[in-house]
Amino acid sequence: MSDVLDAVIIGGGLVGGLTALLLAQGGVQATVLDAAPILDEQKVISVANSRVLALSQATIHLLKTVHVWEKLARQMPYSGMQVWNKNGYGEINFGQPSQNIPGAEHTLGSMVEPSVLNLAIQQKMLQQLQDYRTQVKVIRVEQGVGVWHIHLADGTELKTKLVIGADGANSFVREQAFIDLDILDYKQAGLTCAIRTAQLHQHIARQIFLETGPLAFLPMASLKPEQDGYWQSIVWTLPDDYAEEYAALDDAAFHELLTRESHHMLGNVLEATPRAQFPLKARAAQQYVKAGLALIGDAAHVIHPLAGQGVNIGCLDAAILCDVLLHDKKRGVWAHEQTLQRYEHRRKGQNDAMMHSMSAIGWMETTQLFPVVWARNFGLKQVEQHAAFKDAFMSQANGLQVLKDTCYAV
Ligand SMILES: Cc1cc2nc3c(=O)[nH]c(=O)nc-3n(C[C@H](O)[C@H](O)[C@H](O)COP(=O)(O)OP(=O)(O)OC[C@H]3O[C@@H](n4cnc5c(N)ncnc54)[C@H](O)[C@@H]3O)c2cc1C
Repeated sequence: MSDVLDAVIIGGGLVGGLTALLLAQGGVQATVLDAAPILDEQKVISVANSRVLALSQATIHLLKTVHVWEKLARQMPYSGMQVWNKNGYGEINFGQPSQNIPGAEHTLGSMVEPSVLNLAIQQKMLQQLQDYRTQVKVIRVEQGVGVWHIHLADGTELKTKLVIGADGANSFVREQAFIDLDILDYKQAGLTCAIRTAQLHQHIARQIFLETGPLAFLPMASLKPEQDGYWQSIVWTLPDDYAEEYAALDDAAFHELLTRESHHMLGNVLEATPRAQFPLKARAAQQYVKAGLALIGDAAHVIHPLAGQGVNIGCLDAAILCDVLLHDKKRGVWAHEQTLQRYEHRRKGQNDAMMHSMSAIGWMETTQLFPVVWARNFGLKQVEQHAAFKDAFMSQANGLQVLKDTCYAV
C-alpha cells in the first residue's frame, strides 16, 4: 500500500486550495490536481474582475489561519449593509457607514475579486504543498477495494485512500462517483460588472429588491488610488430575457438605468466595465460522501447569489472536513466511512436549509402578490426594529458559530 496516497484533491480553487492548506498544517500532504493553469500575476493585478466575493468573518479567519490573507493583492472591507424594497417601505441596516478603511473590529467582512483570491491561494499552495499539479486532465475516477484509482490524460494512474471533489458546480468527481444531483433552474441570470459612482460607497454593501429581482452594490478595491471608495461590483438577478436586454444596452443607457433603479443612492453611475452574465441554478448533491470520497464547495452545492454566501459555505465545508479528518487521524484512523459521515451530517442539513431559504426569499422578493409584498415589508421592518433579530441574523451570516466546536474556533 506504500504507493497509495492519503488524499487527492481534484480542484484547486478557493475551497480545494483551502482544504489542502488546512490539511498540510495538520501534517497531511494531499496531492492537488487542477485543470486550470497558474495565473499570470501581472494580469491579475492590473485587470479588475467584474464581480467580487463577499467573504464572511469565518472565511477571513480561515484564510488567515493558512496565511493566504496577507498575500491578497487587494480587497475592500465593508462595515455596513443596507437592504430595502423598491416598492415598499421595508428597510434594514446592519453595521455602520465608514469614511475610512474600517478597522478590523468594525468590519463585517471583505470583498475580494475571485482572480485575486485564486492567485493568493495558488501562490501559497506552490510554497506549501509537495505535490500541486496544474493543467491536469482527469479522465476517470474509479472505486476499487479500499482505494480510488484516478486516471490522468497523460497515462498516469494515482491510487488514494481519499478523493476530495472540489471541482466546482459541474463536478466530474461527482459524476464519476454516481452521486445524483437535484437542480432548481431559477430561469434567472446574474448580470455583473464593476461600476464607478459619483458618490462614495462608505464601505456599505447595498441591496435593493426590485420587481425583477435583487440588485446588489458591493464595494470593491479600485485600481487607481484617486478613485478609491467609488468603485463597486453589481450583481443584478434578472429573468433571463431582461438580463439579455440590459446586457445589450450601450454604456450611456446602462448608466442611466442603474442610476434610476438605485434611486440615485450613490449619485450618477459614471463608468461601467463590460457586462458578464451567469445562469442561476441551485444544485444540491444528494450525498456529500461515499466510502473514501467527499464532495466540498460548489461540487456539493450551488446556492442563489442573493446572500453572497456560496464560497463562504464552501470554506465551512473545508474546515469541518479537515476538522473531522485530523481529529480521527490523532486516534490512528484515516478517512474512515464514519469520519466522512460526520462531515456530511454537520454540513448537508445546514447547506440545504440555506439553499431553500435563498430560493424562498428569491421568490418572495420577485412576486408582486399583495400578501407577500406586505409580509416582506413587515418582515424587514420587524427585523430593523429588534436588535436581537439583527444579532441573530449577523451571527448566522458571519459563519463563526459553525467553527465553534472545531480546531479552527475563533
Ligand atoms: C454571479 C455570482 C456571484 C457570486 N457572488 C458570491 C459572493 O458574493 N460571495 C460568495 O461567497 N460566493 C459568491 N458566488 C459563488 C462563488 O463564486 C462559488 O461558490 C465559489 O467560486 C465556489 O468555489 P469552489 O472552489 O467550490 O469552486 P470553483 O471556484 O468553481 O473552483 C473549482 C476548481 O476546480 C477546477 N476544476 C474543475 N473541473 C476540474 C477537473 N475535471 N479536473 C481538475 N480540476 C478541475 C477548476 O479549475 C477550479 O480551480 C457567486 C457566484 C455567482 C455566479
